[in-house]
Amino acid sequence: MKIICIGRNYANHVKELNNNIPKEPIFFLKPDTAIQPKGHPFLIPYFSNNIHYEVELILRINKTGKHIEEQFAHKYYSRIGLGIDFTARDVQKECKAKGLPWEKAKSFDGSAQISRTFIEKSDLKLDNIDFSLEKNGEIVQKGNTKEILFSFNQIIAYASRFFTLKIGDLIFTGTPEGVGKVSTGDILKGFIGERKMFKVIVK
Ligand code: ZN
Repeated sequence: MKIICIGRNYANHVKELNNNIPKEPIFFLKPDTAIQPKGHPFLIPYFSNNIHYEVELILRINKTGKHIEEQFAHKYYSRIGLGIDFTARDVQKECKAKGLPWEKAKSFDGSAQISRTFIEKSDLKLDNIDFSLEKNGEIVQKGNTKEILFSFNQIIAYASRFFTLKIGDLIFTGTPEGVGKVSTGDILKGFIGERKMFKVIVK
């Protein structure tokens, strides 16, 4: 399986990192080894002094497809989860400055925190999903799919131009503003609406 991650999909987050609003979705991949084993703490990797959390809604692909048309894209996922795209911001900054790929900063072991449960999309109002991240009891990120630049269907259509989407593939759909650094001992909790989706301890 593969994990496709969308960058710069919430305007206020684009601004906070001084990036430009993209004309097309920006994406990168994480390998399956990036998946944080369920219930394990997140271990800060030795090669970074600035690991950021990025809370994101996740789509789980449930049908194989290539060149999917936007109008049919909704048939390719039925459940939505929540996760964190852990990012070594210092390493990413270096990669960006040199015009190099981001994988070292984005795709390391444990960089994909994924909720154990996924919610049936029929139980959610897709264009009005509230989600948030709490750090040590305080809300640090808050997003709503109203603010998304590229819709779930647009993302699926676009990504499937380049990659065949397969059952079990995951799509991280981008993070809202408020990204920040994690430190040893932090406790991060993710929510969709009021529903707690995951808890992870940073070590
Ligand atoms: Zn992200």
